[in-house]
Amino acid sequence: VTKPPLKYRLKELVWIAPLAIAGGFAVGVVAAVVRLWLRGDLSHGLWRTGVELANTTLNACVYGAVSLGLFVALVAALQILFGRRTAPALRAAIGFNLFFPLFMVIVWVATERAIEAFSLATHKLPELIRQNDNLGRFLLENYLASLDVVQVAKLLLVKAGWMIPAILMAALLGVWVERIWTRLAARRRRPPQASSSPRVARAVTAVVIIGAVLIVSNMAALAARLTNREPRPNVILISLDTLRADRLGCYGNEHARTPVLDKLAANGVLFEDAVSNSSWTLPGHGAMLTGVQPGALGLFKVTDRLSPRALTLAEVMREHGFDTGAIVSYILLDKVYGFDQGFEHFDYVDNQPASDIVDKAIAYIAPRQQQKFFLFLHMYDTHWPYEPSEETAREFWPHYLHRGLRQLIDTGDYARFALQVVRGPEDFNDYCRAMYDGEIHDVDAQLGRLFHYLIERGLDNRTIVVVTSDHGEEFLDHGLFGHGLTLYDEAIRVPLIMRFPHLLPSGARVTGQVQSLDLFPTILGLTGLDPTTYNLGGRDLLFSAAAGQVEPVPMISETTMSGDQRYALRDGRLKLLTPFNLDFGHGLTVERDEEVFDLSADPHETANLAPTHPKMAEVLRQKMAETLAEVQQRWGQSAGLTHSKELSAEEIERLRSLGYIQ
Ligand SMILES: [Zn+2]
Repeated sequence: VTKPPLKYRLKELVWIAPLAIAGGFAVGVVAAVVRLWLRGDLSHGLWRTGVELANTTLNACVYGAVSLGLFVALVAALQILFGRRTAPALRAAIGFNLFFPLFMVIVWVATERAIEAFSLATHKLPELIRQNDNLGRFLLENYLASLDVVQVAKLLLVKAGWMIPAILMAALLGVWVERIWTRLAARRRRPPQASSSPRVARAVTAVVIIGAVLIVSNMAALAARLTNREPRPNVILISLDTLRADRLGCYGNEHARTPVLDKLAANGVLFEDAVSNSSWTLPGHGAMLTGVQPGALGLFKVTDRLSPRALTLAEVMREHGFDTGAIVSYILLDKVYGFDQGFEHFDYVDNQPASDIVDKAIAYIAPRQQQKFFLFLHMYDTHWPYEPSEETAREFWPHYLHRGLRQLIDTGDYARFALQVVRGPEDFNDYCRAMYDGEIHDVDAQLGRLFHYLIERGLDNRTIVVVTSDHGEEFLDHGLFGHGLTLYDEAIRVPLIMRFPHLLPSGARVTGQVQSLDLFPTILGLTGLDPTTYNLGGRDLLFSAAAGQVEPVPMISETTMSGDQRYALRDGRLKLLTPFNLDFGHGLTVERDEEVFDLSADPHETANLAPTHPKMAEVLRQKMAETLAEVQQRWGQSAGLTHSKELSAEEIERLRSLGYIQ
């Protein structure tokens, strides 16, 4: 057989490359259809599904085309350089691509065995492993992932130690497939040729064994990374501690000066009736960041800490390739309480001002503009002591301030301060509320700085912004001051505003009750992840946001911060509060019977219907029991998700000064 000169054979590449890209495109279209068929959930509406499908198709096509094109062209080029023809080259490329399904089978079988052998908690494992109950689906989805050349290239850089052997093995498989093909074809025509030298065979075997060991030992890393292939939007979740909804302009407060949050609501979605599952920081954030009811989570007292076994939103986001960062400003959200789980970047400084947090947030975002990130910001300014800037303070309280109160604030003794506000005179409370509103105004301005940065960098349209709070604050609305004590609406109604132009309507106001537990599934839904994969309590609110209405479901808010466990059941219209006793010392005690309120007629909870409507109370009691039984059934005993630890002297001092312990 005479071989044509090399330059003529290289010319064959000219038609191979476009053909391979066209082939890759075809694979991409098939991939998109398969994905829709596997995951096509029309319950979110045709529009969202359409957007997702178009996005998936485009990605799959581009990835498919580029990677297949690259693989085929590469193998063909090598084959031609070594004097082979293009038809065998194409067969070798097919062999190259066959490597990945084989590899996936190994990954699947090994992880299945690992789960069995080590009885791993599957809810903490990467999605890839968790979902591997269906080998067919697993293979299909992850074979498609392996076509993502960008991801493969990144892996190659990061994990050169095992990616190079993997590609080498794939190439070898390609050569073998081609060789087998040639032999089979040759056997039909003429007697077989002499096989390759034993030395080459030994070398090949050695490389394969080394490669296999390296790959298997790095399987978990691959499993986690392979799920990170789709470009998703960034997420910034902002929790403004102790922010009751009715102090914001967008929630109907005419005197509020919160232009930034009002504008965010005007450009996004505002949930009119958002309720926290607790009235204090630890369980409130617990529900928000784990999607588990605080009672089931076991976050009752300040000594309770989130267990490493609890699954956090940050962990899920990280698993899906988001760079995760948190900037928090209160001890209850620090590492010692387990809230750093899933965050690669974690910044905690006690009581750091919103201005510092925004500076740090910008510094975090700046180098990650080409990356998807999940950033959790916790601002503590609106928590007691309310200390707005001097200018704001003068604007919000131009009156005389009783010297005794000022001194009391300076001592930092929360318990005495709260007692003083409760006992009066009345302008103490007015002063507190004014300073609180002033703090909200200052925080609003800082948020403006952050949002302005996002707009400036063109990040605003690919970043989901969610603003909410862990609980409200009482200003003697029911005779008490602060939070964590009761579960009246001033202590549990929080703002919930979301903005993401691609999926959420602009200027929409959603009626119907939603809860903190809904945040986890909603954020997953907004980023295109499937919340049903996880054992979460809330609902994905995306569909409701588009519809402008949520069908309320009964929810439980609870607190044990001082004294017994207290529950509120809220079904969107009616509310039941369990009876409680509080002893503040210094002769101040509070005793409340069971209370029932009709929130639609009496939003400020002034007329207790329990004594006059015993039947209504009975029905609500039943509903509360059912809802708590559902919680129990869903998550079981709380012991698994928290652990208690004695507080250090320093922690005790800090918590005492803020009234969390007495
Ligand atoms: Zn709080």
